Amino acid sequence: MAKKRVYEIARELGVPTKELISKLAELGMEGLRAVNAVEEEEAEVIRDLFLEGKQQATSDEAQEGATEQESPDEQPPAEEPRPKPPQKGDPRPPVVAVLGHIDHGKTTLLDGIRRAHIAEGEAGGITQSIGAYQAQVDERTITFIDTPGHKAFTAMRARGAQVTDIAVLVVAADDGVMAQTVEAIDHIKAAQLPMIVAINKTDKAAQNVDRVKQELTQHGFVPEDWGGDTIMIPISALNGDGVEDLLEMLLLVADMEDFRGEPSGELHATVIESHIDTARGPLATVIVKNGTLKARDCVVVGTTWGRIRALIDHRGEQVPSAGPGTPVQIMGLEDVPDAGERLEVFPDQKKAKREVSARQLAEEAQRKPSRATMTFEDLLAQAQTENLYVVLKATSMGALEAARGEMSSVEHEGVEIQVLHAGVGPVNESDVALLSAVDSGQPLVLGFGVKVDNKARRAAETRGIPIRTYDIIYDLTEDVRRAVRRLAGPEYVETKVGEAEVLQLFDIDGVGTVAGCAVTSGRVVRGAIIKVRRDDEIIHSGELQTLKRFTQDVREVESGRECGIRVRDFDEVQQGDVLEIYSMEEVQPE
Ligand code: GDP
Repeated sequence: MAKKRVYEIARELGVPTKELISKLAELGMEGLRAVNAVEEEEAEVIRDLFLEGKQQATSDEAQEGATEQESPDEQPPAEEPRPKPPQKGDPRPPVVAVLGHIDHGKTTLLDGIRRAHIAEGEAGGITQSIGAYQAQVDERTITFIDTPGHKAFTAMRARGAQVTDIAVLVVAADDGVMAQTVEAIDHIKAAQLPMIVAINKTDKAAQNVDRVKQELTQHGFVPEDWGGDTIMIPISALNGDGVEDLLEMLLLVADMEDFRGEPSGELHATVIESHIDTARGPLATVIVKNGTLKARDCVVVGTTWGRIRALIDHRGEQVPSAGPGTPVQIMGLEDVPDAGERLEVFPDQKKAKREVSARQLAEEAQRKPSRATMTFEDLLAQAQTENLYVVLKATSMGALEAARGEMSSVEHEGVEIQVLHAGVGPVNESDVALLSAVDSGQPLVLGFGVKVDNKARRAAETRGIPIRTYDIIYDLTEDVRRAVRRLAGPEYVETKVGEAEVLQLFDIDGVGTVAGCAVTSGRVVRGAIIKVRRDDEIIHSGELQTLKRFTQDVREVESGRECGIRVRDFDEVQQGDVLEIYSMEEVQPE
């Protein structure tokens, strides 16, 4: 029998879906989502329950919400709610990103929605995209990020920023799931975003919606009409078929997720796009998720700052302020910030400038030594994790399968190899971005018979992500085996190489406490492990993060000299503490 979605039942009843769901929850039928598909019999139960509940409510309006109704016997399967951060404030527009394979119709879709849904009479104002726009649908607003592809998305994720609330995955019905579709899926999964699939180009003769559904099922997304819970909507971005359904579903998902923001709360705003305009200087588009950004605010973004000279909305018009859920372009920054960087408001220029110099210093201090010159072993020796996160690229599906198979043969107690993405083609920037979003674990890009594009190489270098390519599968497996062994075992012995005494402390913004020390015996070396001794007791043991003489980073400081030492993640060091310095000597695994 045909299934019905909850939102369709709401439509039949002539009530907003949100109202139906909250009423049903009140009546004991909890956990329903707008997109749940139920059997016709269950739909009947829902309709009856709602209508009864409504009657009851009107008859005893005075006793507000006093009764607790019994649950009906037959309940549709309730879904586990996705854990989400509690949101405060007023409902705000959802922020939607459209992802998918090249040429599958992302731009056509975004342009179509923009044309049809920007408030009438104002469309003339559209000059140029600021990287996002707001569509009006059923008197509500949806914010779309229209920076093409998932570049912006991954760049943001790489910085830990979660700007997108809902992802739309576009898959062309004639082409099916392709390499970048899989990439997009992996990104969406990693970000744990609610997703709607738009199966596009259904106007084409060669379309095959079922095949796309089948392919998506293989990636863990089962369409509702096949008993799963992924919303998949056939559309034609070209002639508009199904696009309104898609928008409706976005609103429903937004209702379910209940995105909120406090207009007068703390500002949370993230850069999604930036560039230099020859006439207007650096321009950056931010999406405000909480609080309100105002023209004339003094802001710091990454390592740049500025007093906002103008706020420009998605129609190209100047606005005095931008609240939660709104994209806005800002003019007046000193430099171009990166996508994913967060914006903070400062009370005055002086404080903003001070913050920027502190950040620049911190960035300098944290700059990792170039990993390009390190060996594979060096890289892995720094890993402090038991998980290996891998992106695997190969020349063909066959090669990919072979490499995957070989890798799964590598086992080691306590170490998990997680392949976050496996795809055909050269190693690209997105592969690196996917791994930069991993916050604990050793990331590793493995290429089998493929090239690494320049952007990927640069990104990997700055983010310290190793990329290794192989022509022989045996070499790949061997390296993975070594990596796993390395991650698993205690293969180092500590050798004490020196001691230093803490003479004074410096607090450096963005870095933490740096101890000014005198080396009293032996030497201090980079890469050492430091044990902090106080009153003959070791109170902390950690990695040496920075070693400086005056302002210079150095490799080694000898006995009799002074130096600045920071122990990673440790700010409790005190004057008079003794730092015992240990170097880690490698013991060859058998
Ligand atoms: P993007 O790379 O994902 O942004 O894809 P585009 O939006 O640029 O679309 C690629 C091509 O597919 C263009 O020639 C579009 O006209 C065409 N296209 C997009 N959507 C549809 C559709 O629904 N039906 C048909 N027949 N063509 C489409």
